[in-house]
Amino acid sequence: MVTSENRAEISLMVVDDELFVRNITVRILNKLGYRNVDTANNGDVALGKLISTETSYDIIICDLNMPEMDGVEFIRHAKESNFTGGMILLSGEHQRILETSLELATAQGLNVLGALAKPLKPDLLEELLDTYRPSTKEKRHFIPQEAISEDELRAGIEGADGEELMLVYQPKVHIQSGEITGVETLARWQHPERGILGPGAFIPLAEETGLIDVLTHQIYRKTVRQISDWLLDGIFLKTSVNFSINSFADPNFAKFIVDVTEEAGVNPEQVILEVTETQVMTNAFDCLEVILSMCFKKFGLSIDDFGTGTSSMAQLKSIPFTELKVDRAFVFGAAKNSGARAILEASVSLAKNLNMEVVAEGAETREDWDLVEQLGVDYVQGFYCAKPMPNEQLLKFIEKWSGPH
Ligand code: C2E
Ligand code: CA
Ligand code: CA
Repeated sequence: MVTSENRAEISLMVVDDELFVRNITVRILNKLGYRNVDTANNGDVALGKLISTETSYDIIICDLNMPEMDGVEFIRHAKESNFTGGMILLSGEHQRILETSLELATAQGLNVLGALAKPLKPDLLEELLDTYRPSTKEKRHFIPQEAISEDELRAGIEGADGEELMLVYQPKVHIQSGEITGVETLARWQHPERGILGPGAFIPLAEETGLIDVLTHQIYRKTVRQISDWLLDGIFLKTSVNFSINSFADPNFAKFIVDVTEEAGVNPEQVILEVTETQVMTNAFDCLEVILSMCFKKFGLSIDDFGTGTSSMAQLKSIPFTELKVDRAFVFGAAKNSGARAILEASVSLAKNLNMEVVAEGAETREDWDLVEQLGVDYVQGFYCAKPMPNEQLLKFIEKWSGPH
């Protein structure tokens, strides 16, 4: 617990786009005895600090309304980069928005100390800060790692024909029949020194450096090779693959996907291309040509992490998605969280009206499953049924599978 004696040892970061708010918050904190205070003017800068510096933060105070990356998105990324410190949310918005954001952040498993309305009241901030208990693990938070360099990533992707890149598969269960009807492929990098790295450690870097195209090519080739091997063993799994929207902006991309799929003897109807809602909405127009040609070829098209972006009805209607994947922030714990549940329900009805199948991601408990079943969701993907796993394990898992409960 924080006491007035140990405040000076606590390290904080204030994330807010307004200089005035940052300054006043730092002043309040200093007055309370917090000496170790860093600031960031947007989510990207804050994430950079979280991931790449040697400093670890005990508590982040984050504004919810920021222009480039809003607080909710920042929270998700912070969680993905293994931040396990305390989080305090700030907002000038309506109390209800603050409460819902608080519930969502908590549902994502973050250590949320609380939410405060602006203008900030020093005594309320002090109370919240005092509730912080450092995690029992030693110097916690993110795993301090030396940042991965572009050359290192290039060597990993291109070296030995991409042997260091591997795929894991997470089963997708059809609710009505209880059967495993498909999988999502998720990338892992088997790094010779750093161990197995999750996509959060290298996909954003690949996107920034333009290496994403080579990476996507490697992953897609591996995926269709795997589908074809399964088919030879009499296993039919509809397979979802993640794509960065940047790839769709290149007209040659459609040809690559079509050719590689055909060469492997795989029917495009067995493949679902996933793109995240946030990415698709900022680039929809540039990508329409490729998206349409994929649809003509009968590939499935899924809008991923739905609910985290800002797509409108009109935008959704103009792109022929076949599937909508509700983000896990609105699935896990939704039975107990009215805000999340409302978004989940609205997403299901939107998808149904637009003739799309609905997948609920991140169902972790029986309660989550029961709720999505009751709401008419078609497929469930989440730790309640299965975690992502390598192929050998997947085959054994499917063999033993006798239903979700
Ligand atoms: P995503 O597409 O939303 O993938 C689902 C992520 O949620 C996976 O994390 C999965 O392990 C996790 N997950 C599934 N069920 C549960 C659950 O019940 N609870 C919790 N807490 N988590 C669950 P992973 O594998 O770390 O992937 C993270 C993201 O990286 C993916 O999110 C996807 O956006 C991106 N990604 C993964 N593989 C690729 C790839 O090959 N290409 C591209 N462009 N992006 C990829
Ligand atoms: Ca996905
Ligand atoms: Ca997702």
